[in-house]
Amino acid sequence: MMKSKKIDSGFILRLGKGEEIVRTLADFLKEKNIQSGSLSGIGGVKDIRIMYYDLQTKKYVPKDFLGMYEMTSLLGNISLVDGNPFAHLHITISDEDYRVFGGHLDSAVVGVTCEIVVNVFSEPINRVADEEFGLKFLDL
Ligand code: ZN
Repeated sequence: MMKSKKIDSGFILRLGKGEEIVRTLADFLKEKNIQSGSLSGIGGVKDIRIMYYDLQTKKYVPKDFLGMYEMTSLLGNISLVDGNPFAHLHITISDEDYRVFGGHLDSAVVGVTCEIVVNVFSEPINRVADEEFGLKFLDL
């Protein structure tokens, strides 16, 4: 079960073993009504799905990494998509031979622990569709 603590700039979170990171974060952002911000995290994760964006097809290509990995970094920003808080997340993981893989995070399950610092900004930031790339970009 995830625990959170309020700090000056936002929150510090600790997710528990077995919790899915993307879903748990989305629920937390919605509950706290966080409309913009940034986040960073470290931990130990398993069963990670990373996505690579193919510019030709304008589709994400998934790749699964099963088993335990060190989450050497989780980086992201928070904005609104269609009025709902959305965390855009990238992850880097390392295996037992210290090889590192990374990309756009689709899902990952906490294997050991997951420590995330969320910095909350005061102004809402929206995402809007970009025709050229088929992605939703920050509307600044
Ligand atoms: Zn991305």
